[in-house]
Amino acid sequence: PIGLMWFRRDLRADDNAALFYALKHSERLHCVFVFDKTILDALPNPQDRRVEFIWHSIAALKARLQAAGGDLHVLHDHSATAIPALARTLGAQAVFTNKDYEPAARTRDAAVAQDLARQGCTLYAFKDQCIFEEDEVLTQAGKFFTVFTPYKNACLKKLDPFHLTPYPSAQHLNAGRLAKPAVEQPLPSLQAMGFQATNILELVKPGEDGALDAFDDFRNRMDRYKTARDFPAVKGVSYLSVHMRFGTISIRRCARAAHEQFVITGSEGAMGWLNELIWRDFYFQIIFHRPDAADKAFKAEYDLIQWDSDDKAQRLFKAWCEGKTGYPLVDAAQRQLNQTGYQHNRLRMVTASFLTKDLGIDWRWGERYFAEHLNDFDLSANNGGWQWAASSGCDAQPYFRIFNPVSQSEKFDAEGKFIRKYCPELAKLPNKFIHEPSACPPLELQAAGVVLGETYPRPVVEHDVARKKTLARYAVVKKSE
Ligand code: FAD
Repeated sequence: PIGLMWFRRDLRADDNAALFYALKHSERLHCVFVFDKTILDALPNPQDRRVEFIWHSIAALKARLQAAGGDLHVLHDHSATAIPALARTLGAQAVFTNKDYEPAARTRDAAVAQDLARQGCTLYAFKDQCIFEEDEVLTQAGKFFTVFTPYKNACLKKLDPFHLTPYPSAQHLNAGRLAKPAVEQPLPSLQAMGFQATNILELVKPGEDGALDAFDDFRNRMDRYKTARDFPAVKGVSYLSVHMRFGTISIRRCARAAHEQFVITGSEGAMGWLNELIWRDFYFQIIFHRPDAADKAFKAEYDLIQWDSDDKAQRLFKAWCEGKTGYPLVDAAQRQLNQTGYQHNRLRMVTASFLTKDLGIDWRWGERYFAEHLNDFDLSANNGGWQWAASSGCDAQPYFRIFNPVSQSEKFDAEGKFIRKYCPELAKLPNKFIHEPSACPPLELQAAGVVLGETYPRPVVEHDVARKKTLARYAVVKKSE
């Protein structure tokens, strides 16, 4: 039979579940990627680092498929209609793809499957994005887990080398099954799709090669992950999230490395990293079972909270977005996001807490801003992270736990290295005052060339006052419990 492999967020030839089965079950296999207008047309910024990351990753994948005697059709269209149309043109009897658990993707895929069925073609979808999916890990009562630690324990109990075995898709590429279209398939330029180049290539190397370089670099540091992961000025984390998001690396490769290292050496760093990969799975299964949580509080009573949304809140939100709150760690974090599309995990927790619990602004505003700016934006992890910070999510932190942005700064950026990088106007302040310039004596401010309200903002809110307001705001939840 003639097959069509539909790449989406799995932009690699190696260890790709759907590609493996597609190669196995097709006599002739065509491959396609769609720059989906339904998604791209909603992006507000023509300089979107993710579109460029995808573009380069697709160019690399196309070259790899061409080198193996095939090609990649690259369309700029609405995939819901373009995939059935292409399958019809090619005479495909089967379309192979890897599952996507986001609500909109599931709706789209169900519609595509129906359209294909009408033309005698079957959509086959595979687990590839996560270690365990859907109903694979359930509580003893047969329900999905809403608390992380028991979920993790159940995963670790179930996990064996079988789940982490790679699919040898790349080895089968040269088996002569890849179809080469009669006419060369062009790759639409970024400009033709309404986008412009960004600084992504200075920040991340895209494609499978980029993912492997980043992975090799991290493997040498994995043992230190647990102790180094919380300090944004230290190279302690993997920076692999954008590769995991777009599937330029396989989750099995990552989890296998961590699992093996833990089993062989007992490395706490490796177990710590595996723990984070399981958080990723955890949020996938949450969004799968609770698609409504994409825009509603996971715990319904938290939607009773009255968030601020007046003109003042709009101004505060703008200050938060731009990194001008007068809290240096928050500002440095937001500037990192704006300049690079990445924000360190510790800082995501700090900035999300600051927006919801210091500024009293709805977590959905922050979630949307992150969705527009994060290179690794993933609906499930982003929603999970925001609802965790706002306390409205599953297994979230209790609402009365409110991060103090100054003590977080003293603890996790003690020497102010990270702050100095992104807030150079504060660089000359002594370590003692860099976390809270508003508490710095005038002479020291002057010596450091800092003029509050001019070269650097005064704090937009007072943390202690904001904290009390938040406790009052959240009282509505307590009453309803
Ligand atoms: P590492 O520390 O090296 O972790 C390895 C991988 O594990 C990550 O690449 C990621 O795939 C996964 N991971 C780590 N922490 C988490 C977590 N808490 N939840 C789910 N997966 C995790 N992560 C995203 O991938 N996309 C998002 O849109 C996203 N939004 C977030 C929003 C908020 C408010 C918060 C608090 C966290 C968010 N995270 C998100 C989780 C986490 O911050 C990032 O995955 C991590 O910072 C990426 O950097 P890294 O690859 O170096 O991570």
